Amino acid sequence: MRTPIVAGNWKMNKTVEEARELVSELLPLVKDMQAVTTVLCPPAPALLPIAAMLEGTDVELGAQNMHWEANGAYTGELAPAMVKEFGKYVILGHSERRAYFGETDESVNKKILAAQANGLIPIVCVGESLEENKASQTAEIVSGQIKAGLAGVSADLVIAYEPIWAIGTGLAATGEMANDTIKVIRAVLAELFGEEKAQEIRILYGGSVKGSNAAEFFSQSDIDGALVGGAALQADGFAAIAAAAQNEV
Ligand code: PEP
Repeated sequence: MRTPIVAGNWKMNKTVEEARELVSELLPLVKDMQAVTTVLCPPAPALLPIAAMLEGTDVELGAQNMHWEANGAYTGELAPAMVKEFGKYVILGHSERRAYFGETDESVNKKILAAQANGLIPIVCVGESLEENKASQTAEIVSGQIKAGLAGVSADLVIAYEPIWAIGTGLAATGEMANDTIKVIRAVLAELFGEEKAQEIRILYGGSVKGSNAAEFFSQSDIDGALVGGAALQADGFAAIAAAAQNEV
């Protein structure tokens, strides 16, 4: 039995004051959802204040990115130990980082290794472009990203399957399409870690998930929650998705 995860990726949104406001609206809405793990990933400046607000709750905190090195001359970067001071999770390899900041499977691999070495749980994002999808290359692309990104890492991670064409577009995949690709991912995880471990790893769907379509994903056999962008910026939007996950357990 895999406990579902609903994680909110706030991206570059919310000042500390706005973040505090969102969390104070959200906490009463999700506090009784024991069957689902909720994770908030605010921008870096909000990590410390939000960590203080989440103390004593079951809501977890994560960062949106980090560097693989322990410290040094990397202007603008966050080290694994800095994330670990406040958070338990870290999103790695998001398609926006791959597209705009030159991240590759190789750099994602270094980051996963560093996250795990520091006791963080990486949420590793994979997904195909619209062109790749149209050319029926989805399975090949995500399998390649998983094999290259996860070389030498342990099974203590979460995967997020996020078709790039579905992110922020309002064009979500169907539950069935997402489930088919997630089954392919789980089969690759079984090759890497063995069948038993592969059955334990949470694989999330991400891409235009909202309260109104969440149940379609969570009712599928292999989808273990969601990584949520836009809908995570409103307390009721995020809570509706978490409630849909809670209802499917
Ligand atoms: C994301 O960026 O991870 C994401 C899934 O965004 P959205 O929910 O807005 O499509």
